[in-house]
Amino acid sequence: MDFDYPEGDGFEIVMERDDGMSSYDMVFTIVFCLISFCIIAPPEEFVAAGLTIQNILDRFLGSETINFINYHMKRISITLVCHSSVPLIYYLMMAWINPFKLLHKPWEMHLYWKIYLMFSLSLLILVLILVRYWHSNEFENHPVAKKLRFLSETRDWKSVASSVNVEFRRIDKFTCGPRIPGRRVIVTDSWVMKTSTYNLDIAHQNDINLTLTESQIHSMGIDSLRELQLLIIDVKPSNSNLKSFKLHLKSTDYKDLNDKLQKPVRMTQNVVIHQTISDRFLSTFRQEILSHDKYEVPNNIEVDQCLGCMRSRANIKILKACDDADNCAQCFCRPMWCLDCMGKWWASRQDQSRTDTWLSSKCPCPTCRAPCCILDIHLLKHHPE
Ligand SMILES: [Zn+2]
Ligand SMILES: [Zn+2]
Ligand SMILES: [Zn+2]
Repeated sequence: MDFDYPEGDGFEIVMERDDGMSSYDMVFTIVFCLISFCIIAPPEEFVAAGLTIQNILDRFLGSETINFINYHMKRISITLVCHSSVPLIYYLMMAWINPFKLLHKPWEMHLYWKIYLMFSLSLLILVLILVRYWHSNEFENHPVAKKLRFLSETRDWKSVASSVNVEFRRIDKFTCGPRIPGRRVIVTDSWVMKTSTYNLDIAHQNDINLTLTESQIHSMGIDSLRELQLLIIDVKPSNSNLKSFKLHLKSTDYKDLNDKLQKPVRMTQNVVIHQTISDRFLSTFRQEILSHDKYEVPNNIEVDQCLGCMRSRANIKILKACDDADNCAQCFCRPMWCLDCMGKWWASRQDQSRTDTWLSSKCPCPTCRAPCCILDIHLLKHHPE
């Protein structure tokens, strides 16, 4: 029904433009940003629930096992298109939930929304043109095809692609990383590869230098023993047309990787690969003790070599610092042990099946057997001579 109201009699329904950001708009914007972030960089929970672009668009991508290179070319393109459409989706959803912004009438909306619309549309259009160009001529211009071309003596990227595809189908390849195809390290008989959101790095095993450059320790929750050591290996192809790249992997995967590699990984000094539980305990123990107050060694006390290893100078004193009067006792021994030996002794006196209780349990002094807890262990501080 259409009513024809006479002008100016107060019955007109005028939709006033609302340019402000109401709390409702704010909540929507924050929720939208969170969801987009989880889709662009999916956390483990999203991956487990299958909420990744690769899973949702699975049937456009084909099979990774059968045609690895083709799969990743399409994955990179589709990921790029999906990510670049996020600003436009925000605009459309905002137009839908808040009609007072007049976003459905682009000629009437506020200038900043006009600029925003122009930006999000041009971004998507540019990306679509780019992807169209990549896919033209059977992927001839795709960045992955360009990379593969440098790996072939005849400049035929398809022969490289089929060699990679064949090797990827073998079950003895090394793979590690999250379950999404976009973040993995893959090593086959001849190829070392790393997949990332918009990229596929690849190099021939015979043509690379590998260097272990860094290790990072990540703690996993309350149980400080369950920490994760991440190793970063630099892959440097001798072919100057190819860029070097970094492999990130858990130290527990390092042995399998090494078995698959044809060349040894060079170690830079000071990287220690933690593999055993007692190694990991030692580093946690060391960190814990470093955070305690130091014990000032009185001038009249001689500090000798550690009784455990006879190599390092003793640097530990057990001095009651906790308030557990019932279970901890004062040890009156002079410093006789070094930090590492104390850590090993500590680990050896614990319930080997319950590593999560190691740090919170008691341990007797190695010399006088007075029970102490971790709080009672201190490093030494020597008086300046
Ligand atoms: Zn020692
Ligand atoms: Zn003692
Ligand atoms: Zn204590």
